[in-house]
Amino acid sequence: MYLGEEIKKLGFGLMRLPQKDGVIDLEETQKMVDLFMENGFTYFDTAWAYTGSEEAIRKTLVERYPRDSFTLATKNAAWINCKTREEALAQFDLSLEKSGAGYFDFYLLHNLGAHRTKVFEDFDLWNYFLKKKEEGLIKHLGFSFHSTPEELDEILTKHPEAEFVQLQINYADWENPAIQSRANYEMARSHGKPVVIMEPVKGGLLANPPESVAKILKEAEPDSSCASWAIRFAASLEGVITVLSGMTYVPQMEDNLAYMKDFTGLTDAQQEVIRKAQDALDRIPLIPCTTCNYCAKVCPKNIGISGSFTAMNIYTLYGNKQFAQRQFGWLVGGHGKDVPGACIKCGKCEGVCPQQIAIRDELERVAETFE
Ligand code: SF4
Ligand code: SF4
Repeated sequence: MYLGEEIKKLGFGLMRLPQKDGVIDLEETQKMVDLFMENGFTYFDTAWAYTGSEEAIRKTLVERYPRDSFTLATKNAAWINCKTREEALAQFDLSLEKSGAGYFDFYLLHNLGAHRTKVFEDFDLWNYFLKKKEEGLIKHLGFSFHSTPEELDEILTKHPEAEFVQLQINYADWENPAIQSRANYEMARSHGKPVVIMEPVKGGLLANPPESVAKILKEAEPDSSCASWAIRFAASLEGVITVLSGMTYVPQMEDNLAYMKDFTGLTDAQQEVIRKAQDALDRIPLIPCTTCNYCAKVCPKNIGISGSFTAMNIYTLYGNKQFAQRQFGWLVGGHGKDVPGACIKCGKCEGVCPQQIAIRDELERVAETFE
């Protein structure tokens, strides 16, 4: 039990909700919400920055279930285009209005790390949200984070009022120097903070891992999905409030619910399987893009950055250029985005990328491969 809440260790991440004709498919979302609740899961994670997500959860959850039957988390991204404190504060009010939730069980300063941390300091947002907590509009205040353990240590030392931390943790990034899942997790725990885990499946990549990895997982448990290994690994860590899975399809949710319903932790033998999968992954170089699309919000040229990287990773993993090329066409041009060759190399994207990808260099590689 953490923070006075009894929460099952699977959270519904609302960042990748099902889409129809370019907007969130409410009918499908509602099916997923109902399925999730019926199975006794209660944690929902949205954000001001997830376009349409807060309204979708109002219609499919908040207006249909008693307020105390679920737990809602949302986030403030003051570093996205806020020039004044008032603009940053307005995100809180807008989240309340759009979600209709009345209060937030968990409120997060979204994506602290690097220059983004300073924006919350400059606008004195920590104190503002503490006031909202006193008013009962926030139950638990915390932050999500993408940066180094040293910086996490600094923030937690300066802000002991943070009650929890949301971190990117998955078996592929456990020792990845750009993400430092293990070191950040250990830092949060050394400050006594419980952890919410995000990106356990690494933006979906670990649902369909490379053949060498899938072979190890399938040999160990032929009937378990590869995604289940990723989520179970994260949920086995001590001090975890919940593991967020950004679910998009009903079958994906059904799979998650089935193995997480009575999950108590991976055995030693299963942990050994994960170690073997990590070794196999280490031998394949991929672009570590999680499709968060923060870069898309700041790119002045509307370059299809995440789509380009997804296509490039497909090519690296499966070696099928024709298939990857088709993906590139669909994920970039098909989504109204411009090709990497149109990049003006301003670098704005790299300033917001939580994965610290050398986006400009990688885009050049993509342009050489697909354009
Ligand atoms: S460097 Fe290129 S991709 Fe990145 S923000 Fe600038 S124009 Fe967009
Ligand atoms: S390049 Fe970075 S910011 Fe852009 S979608 Fe990928 S991970 Fe997110």
